[in-house]
Amino acid sequence: MWNTPALFIGKDEKMNSPVKKNQDVTLDIIDLSYEGLGVAKLDHYPIFVEDALPGERVVAHIVKVGKKFSFAKAIKHLTTSPDRVDLKDKQLTQTGIAPLQHLSYDAQLKFKQHQVAQTLQKVGLGDVEVLNTIGMNPPYGYRNKAQVPVRRGQDGLLDIGFFRKNSHHFVPMDDFYIQDADIDKALIVVRDILRRFGVSAYDETKHEGVMRHIMIRRGYHSHEMMVVLVTRKKKLFKADQIAKAIMDALPEVVSVMQNINDKQTNVILGKEYEVLAGRPYIEDEMLGHEFYISAASFYQVNTAQAEAMYQYAIDHTKLNKQTTAIDAYCGIGTITLSVAPFVKHIYGVEVVPEAVHDAKKNARLNHLDNATFVTGKAEQVMQEWMQKGIHADVVFVDPPRKGLAPSFTQSLLETKPKQISYISCNPATFARDAALLTNGGYTLSEVQPFDMFPQTTHIELVAVFTRKEAL
Ligand code: SAH
Repeated sequence: MWNTPALFIGKDEKMNSPVKKNQDVTLDIIDLSYEGLGVAKLDHYPIFVEDALPGERVVAHIVKVGKKFSFAKAIKHLTTSPDRVDLKDKQLTQTGIAPLQHLSYDAQLKFKQHQVAQTLQKVGLGDVEVLNTIGMNPPYGYRNKAQVPVRRGQDGLLDIGFFRKNSHHFVPMDDFYIQDADIDKALIVVRDILRRFGVSAYDETKHEGVMRHIMIRRGYHSHEMMVVLVTRKKKLFKADQIAKAIMDALPEVVSVMQNINDKQTNVILGKEYEVLAGRPYIEDEMLGHEFYISAASFYQVNTAQAEAMYQYAIDHTKLNKQTTAIDAYCGIGTITLSVAPFVKHIYGVEVVPEAVHDAKKNARLNHLDNATFVTGKAEQVMQEWMQKGIHADVVFVDPPRKGLAPSFTQSLLETKPKQISYISCNPATFARDAALLTNGGYTLSEVQPFDMFPQTTHIELVAVFTRKEAL
């Protein structure tokens, strides 16, 4: 009786946790959270368990106790799910690089479809059909960009690795599994060159040392590589020789950049860039068009899946030589220029000036003269376009995780484009915006999830909204 205090507390009092830190408990896993953790309940009290799948019975070690829920780690599996696969490396779970690595790839795709469906249901859009997630093969080695921290390893040498989830605990590693294998190989080469030149690793507690991060981008089709050395200070001893050594050792490298970040922060990149060797961009191809990509610009990290997604967005919108289109949140113009050949004119807006600079160059590079790019916030520029009488028939949006700004959605409802093609990297904000658009006169019959980030819990989707009068 004394062990069940929850039974005696009144409604307004906070429930006490039925578990204690470091306790081992046997749990039945009933669900998988959107973060990929197994969900168990003890007297209605939720416990989120790492490395545990629905249907499994596990012995879990409680690592963190909260008033409303706790976190635990499975230390023994008493029964295992048919969806379980062997771990590639447990550090990939500990660092959060591959939190779904214990789930078979088919089950990962179903999990993502289910997550989207559940999120839509919560906003009253349960009638919208969520199609099977389009996956990729193989579901690893897909990232065309790496940003890895540089710290001192246990042997005192400069090392590359990753941080344990929610901590500053550095774990040296050199196989990042979801990154392009050639990027992983290049990271080791760069690490060894930095060691040879005696470059010191950043120490975040003392805010000392030089090298903070190495960022590498490699064109999926072109195989051109850019190496960005992120340093605490502008002064990098023998920078030219280091850059030359990198280019000599790695023939694919066409650009070695330095980025300076002197702030005591978790943000990886600072504002200032320097070219150390080669040119300040790489080239790559998407859907047959060529793109210049500079270090500060956003570029989809999974090129093959992004191409499939763009193609879907193009195929599901009505485009012809009379169409005026808008690509909001356009980055370096990858969607804008993929759509341009099919329409009369397309306008792109993007907030990062370097990306707009790339986008304009990319239009020229591909001999497309029916695309106009503007630097600014989509929500403001949209208003300006409205005032100038620019009315789009089709609007493409691909916003960051926070989704559309309310004033942007308002502008859409005022200008009434016939179709809105929404690419989202966050089902929660997508569902919020989808509810506003469907209440404002648009219909949505289906949503197509794409797996852009296999082994992780990230979900990407495309949804095409159609104005009711245009049906
Ligand atoms: N469509 C592009 C980029 C998508 S990522 C592609 O597929 O490559 C989202 C982009 O929106 C980023 O380039 C980011 O810099 C930009 N962005 C973020 N907030 C914005 C805002 N308020 N207005 C315009 N662009 C914004």
